[in-house]
Amino acid sequence: MNVGICLDKHDFLYDIHSLVKSFFPEDEVSIFTDDDEAKKNAERNLLITVSIPDYAGRKETKDALKREIYDTLSVYTGTSLPWGTLSGIRPTKIPMKMLGEMTPDDQILSYLKTNYYVSDSKADLALRTAKKERELLSALPLGDKAYSLYINIPFCPSICLYCTFSSSPVNSWQKHIDEYIDGVCADMRKKRAELLNAGITQAPVTVYIGGGTPTALKAEQLDRILAETEEIWNTSAAFEFTVEAGRPDSFTPEKLSVLKRHGVSRISVNPQTMNDKTLRLIGRSHTRQDTLDAFKMARDAGFDNINMDMILGLPGEGKEEVQKTLDEIAELGPDSLTVHSLAVKRASGLRKTIREDRENDINADRGNFGGLVFENSAELMDLSAKTASSLGMEPYYLYRQKNMKGNLENTGFALPGKECLYNIIIMEEVQTIYAFGAGGSTKFVYPDGRIERIVEPKDVKTWLDRRK
Ligand code: SF4
Repeated sequence: MNVGICLDKHDFLYDIHSLVKSFFPEDEVSIFTDDDEAKKNAERNLLITVSIPDYAGRKETKDALKREIYDTLSVYTGTSLPWGTLSGIRPTKIPMKMLGEMTPDDQILSYLKTNYYVSDSKADLALRTAKKERELLSALPLGDKAYSLYINIPFCPSICLYCTFSSSPVNSWQKHIDEYIDGVCADMRKKRAELLNAGITQAPVTVYIGGGTPTALKAEQLDRILAETEEIWNTSAAFEFTVEAGRPDSFTPEKLSVLKRHGVSRISVNPQTMNDKTLRLIGRSHTRQDTLDAFKMARDAGFDNINMDMILGLPGEGKEEVQKTLDEIAELGPDSLTVHSLAVKRASGLRKTIREDRENDINADRGNFGGLVFENSAELMDLSAKTASSLGMEPYYLYRQKNMKGNLENTGFALPGKECLYNIIIMEEVQTIYAFGAGGSTKFVYPDGRIERIVEPKDVKTWLDRRK
């Protein structure tokens, strides 16, 4: 399908593109102006011509234009989008702002529904989440000297087919890992010295070691990077210290005891699904049993704040498969559950890889998924929200990605007191986060609300070479 939207002025092109893509995530979409004859006259299955309305304010104009296009596409496709015309990655942004202005709940809900066509349930979710975020943020230091840390470990035991994190297989990089750790530690020391010179002596508010899979490192490597992090930053004074252990096939009692020894307060054991057939298909080299074992190992090691991640919309997974995963997660009783929607971009890459593998007769043991359904839906999201609620969890953070099929979202649910504060800090952009390691993105948040980013090279070799 090829969809074109022709505007009468060269404005709002990017916003309209995001909205139209939400209706047609896997199709070709072009937005252009009516003086672009070549684009206007190209062959298309659907071409809509729209005049930009003339409101006094730019925001009102944009909102009205998006509603007009939404109405047309909703009738054409016979569908409505749960998040309406909202296309940003932070659905809580509007309720957060309105709560800050002391707007009553009913007015916030009504504004989300009438101005942006947000569905009843999503408006309610956005408001509940925003309230929780505000409550949690109010207990944290957020002044201009407060900051958090992110350390990236871009290595994994194997690479999942849907991965877009530029992670590398740990075994192929083993001989460079010590050099990588040296580089991260040197950068951390340098930054700490800079901050001390600037009179910023306090410990970070939160520390997050992610990736990749930090526990893909050997126990002694993990020990070294954690010991240095602890010493350089005085992490024992942080409000939260997360290591996104992640892959159950990377856990050992020895590594867990290293994490415990260095004061890590929160970890993740991420099954993504509890169906072995799907795990094989998506290239995760662990089984359901590995998840059960890893979770038990983590509890036995004394971790009382364990998150589990799952993905909805995996190939061949409908209601029955998702319910099985949810039931098994509920049985384990994690402290938080993060539910992701498989983004279309990843799904497309996954589908292409599986098709090519089949054609080349590679990975035949991944199983035959016939028609390969990659479909998340509001029904599956509801199932996961119900399970989270039955476990006593509440939504505490929320974000969307581009190209999410069904225009859905990723939601973090947690038991009271077990929320990941770092997730809220990064999403709401309320303080500077210094990032270290390949692919790390330092985000400076200035007192006037300005934001600046410095991004490290994603590729590990480039990152290492630049240090020579
Ligand atoms: S565990 Fe995460 S980072 Fe590692 S390969 Fe899989 S998706 Fe990528």
